[in-house]
Amino acid sequence: MSIQTMNKTASPFSDRVLGVDESLTVATFARMGELKREGADLISLVAGEPDFDTPENIKKAAIQAIERGCTKYTAPASGLPELRQAIAHKLKRENNLDYDPSQIVVTCGAKQVIFDAVVALINPGDEAIIPSPFWVSYADQVRLMGGRPVILRTSGESGFRLTPRALADAITSRTKVILLNSPCNPTGEVYTPGELCAIADVIADAGIFVISDEIYEKIIYDPARHVSIAAVHPDVVRRTLIVNGFSKAYAMTGWRVGYGAGPPELMRLIAKVQSQETTNTCTISQYAAIEALTGTQESVDAMRDEFRKRRDLIVERLNCLPGVSCRLPQGAFYAFPDVAGLFGERVRNDVELANYLLEEAMTGCVPGSGFGSGNHLRFSYAASLPMLHEAMDRIEDAVSRI
Ligand code: PMP
Ligand code: GLU
Repeated sequence: MSIQTMNKTASPFSDRVLGVDESLTVATFARMGELKREGADLISLVAGEPDFDTPENIKKAAIQAIERGCTKYTAPASGLPELRQAIAHKLKRENNLDYDPSQIVVTCGAKQVIFDAVVALINPGDEAIIPSPFWVSYADQVRLMGGRPVILRTSGESGFRLTPRALADAITSRTKVILLNSPCNPTGEVYTPGELCAIADVIADAGIFVISDEIYEKIIYDPARHVSIAAVHPDVVRRTLIVNGFSKAYAMTGWRVGYGAGPPELMRLIAKVQSQETTNTCTISQYAAIEALTGTQESVDAMRDEFRKRRDLIVERLNCLPGVSCRLPQGAFYAFPDVAGLFGERVRNDVELANYLLEEAMTGCVPGSGFGSGNHLRFSYAASLPMLHEAMDRIEDAVSRI
């Protein structure tokens, strides 16, 4: 008797994988690509990736690496020693944090180091605290390892801030870790040092870990400043995995290079997971990443200045729409307006509204529910100013017809 006839309803596949969704951002991005290939006159404000090209000096470093024959596996698998040293210097110089290169693991993007940390930390039934709105992948990565995401809702009225009180109330004997993201995707909010200190006190008392996703650190607008939670509390640094990468600040999404820095034992486990999984990220990309950190930073500043102009434009125009209100993001490159005022008979929720804008305004965005907030939509403003103007003209017209 085959297994299938013993139990016809059981799936042959893993319950854990069947129990999570495909990344909403990745899936929506793919859908936009399909529509464009079919010839649709579409403006996609979906992708969480800079529209700028990777800076020339970084591309040249990769070409030189290929020409020098640096095309083999990386030894050690955790990352090229020169790159880990450059990351350690960066963490000292910019974040006032002391890490030995042995405490740094270079991965296939920041996404992988977050996942590897979840693999290293979570046993089935363990809880991971995730303030909402959150980046789409956190909760499902926890679920994939049999953990339980504990979502702590925050609202626009309170600046999308997690309070120390709410955190303390949510911690149980099963809590292993909290995932923090500042500057935040999708809200663009940036925690102040004082707010981080108060949260760090709770973390230190509870003895849990923090995965601190700082990938938008360099896409931040005056007067906001990025501070790592690891830098504000002597006990918390021993329980923090700093997550960062090259995708956003250096427009290197396709190169797949990110990294984590943290306490030695956790980093050994993350390195072990990676050694069984991808071995190492692309060696050529790692040479490019060394140049990104040690070469000129002019393009980082130029991209940030351009993002700031785009932010000002899109937020101003969103706030002119009746029924829509949008906070001014302090970092990242997303606008996350509250659109609940548009819900009614014609469009009942965020998914219907996103579909309506796709059909009636030929403009793509991501429904907020993927980030834990169904009252919002996420617009990426990684698009040129003329394109943003055109998108907003179309949206204005479509919204007036709801
Ligand atoms: N964290 C956040 C908050 C993100 O928006 C992204 C975007 N992809 C990542 C992590 C992962 O970035 P990557 O894997 O490209 O380094
Ligand atoms: N982080 C980006 C986003 O939020 C890229 C896609 C992904 O990896 O989720 O759109």
